Amino acid sequence: MTTPWSPTDFSAKVIEYYHAHGRKHLPWQGTQDPYKIWLSEIMLQQTQVTTVIPYFERFIESFPTVTDLAQATDDQVMQHWSGLGYYSRARNLHKAAQIIETEFSGVFPQDPETIETLPGIGRSTAGAIASFAFGQPTAILDGNVKRVLARSYAIEGWPGNGKVLKALWQRAETNTPQQETAAYNQAMMDLGAIVCTRSKPDCPDCPLSKHCLAYNSNSIEQYPGKKPKKARPSKSVYWLINIRQEKVLLHKRPPSGIWGGLWALPEVQQKEMSPDQIQQLDPFVHKFSHYDLQVQPLLLSSNADKALVEKNSHPSIMEPAQADWFSLNQLNEIGLPTPVSKLLVKLLEDS
Ligand code: SF4
Repeated sequence: MTTPWSPTDFSAKVIEYYHAHGRKHLPWQGTQDPYKIWLSEIMLQQTQVTTVIPYFERFIESFPTVTDLAQATDDQVMQHWSGLGYYSRARNLHKAAQIIETEFSGVFPQDPETIETLPGIGRSTAGAIASFAFGQPTAILDGNVKRVLARSYAIEGWPGNGKVLKALWQRAETNTPQQETAAYNQAMMDLGAIVCTRSKPDCPDCPLSKHCLAYNSNSIEQYPGKKPKKARPSKSVYWLINIRQEKVLLHKRPPSGIWGGLWALPEVQQKEMSPDQIQQLDPFVHKFSHYDLQVQPLLLSSNADKALVEKNSHPSIMEPAQADWFSLNQLNEIGLPTPVSKLLVKLLEDS
């Protein structure tokens, strides 16, 4: 039977991998600027490196420092995040920048416990910032690291479960070395992203294969444990498309919830619409991580009743903070959810 890696041998192997194969040239690497490291860590949550790179570069070009971000408007920040998804990340980033500006005089805090008090920063992200920017020996535990540890040490159960998470954190803390922590943390992320991938881990080329419990017991697919299954919920909405003189009416979503702070089409109830004044466009489904949104777009006809147009020019069901009209060109300047943007660009081009 295979014996598990000792913490020192494990970390030595991981650091060796970093020096030989670790990623060292991504736009947020080779810097100790905590702002850039923080931004990259937030953008990389649930998002692939290749998707993040252009967003990161554009964001840094427009907001080169935490002070620039703190002073930006909500719309500017959301517009730079538009298409990247999980918009609460952008709202929290903006809020945290304002806190750093006002409560820490624009200087990023160094202590991981303090970093973790900022909006949108959990224990793992705080650990990553503290180790990459300030050279502290702090552990990390993002999705990639969870997978490598769960497989290497055959830690059973779904990581969303409190007990399993605790076991993973204990293992992460035990294995994180006091020296070269940044190299170790970077290599753990890389191993999870490149070698110990979710569906096709490259075990023969993995530096941890010799004592990896899952690999040596031929049970990789059991780790990490799957989330207990629940039926996937769905929600149906009607979106009203009101185009007048080549401009479309949009409502600003409330700051919290799905697409918070973005401009979107008004949500209406079809029974409010008289059938001869609307045209049903092709329905579609937008998939969120935890539910499906079934969308039925309704195009208000050009000869629609004036009162109906007027009524729908004002915040109604969603009660957003603002409602306004935008031309095709102006759509590039505001934050829009991707399905809204796709739908409107096509319609306005054809109008
Ligand atoms: S040997 Fe395979 S399962 Fe184990 S850590 Fe390496 S890639 Fe992952």
